[in-house]
Amino acid sequence: MTFPLNTPFENLQELKKQLLEKFECQKSGNCCRREGMVYVTIPDMQKMATFLGLQLNAFIQQFCKRENGWYVVASPTHRPNCFLKDDNTCSVYALRPKSCKDYPNWPELWENRESILAELSMCPGLKKAFDRISASK
Ligand code: SF4
Repeated sequence: MTFPLNTPFENLQELKKQLLEKFECQKSGNCCRREGMVYVTIPDMQKMATFLGLQLNAFIQQFCKRENGWYVVASPTHRPNCFLKDDNTCSVYALRPKSCKDYPNWPELWENRESILAELSMCPGLKKAFDRISASK
């Protein structure tokens, strides 16, 4: 994977645009396994609870934890694999929280060359998009 050390910021933004356009999830589960918080809203929890056949309170008790005043369904110390199944699919995929739906369009991943490179090495979907863009040049 190559793009120059001195890649100007505006070119990185163009790279981001092209990568996001070409991104196709390869179902590695790497984004779900990464260290971090998966925050959920009350409506998120309500929908997930209904989907799993649970009352909201039972869902919160079973899956959620309060962190910094927010509910999370996963954190480094609480259900770190979240709802990820052995086949790398999410058991609440259709109702996953917004941050999961937004991936890989998270601002912090596109801040600079290093953060983009780190994500390319972590996410096979982004790597595949990068290879397709490189091959078309
Ligand atoms: S809710 Fe599903 S998609 Fe989101 S991090 Fe958890 S397992 Fe992954």
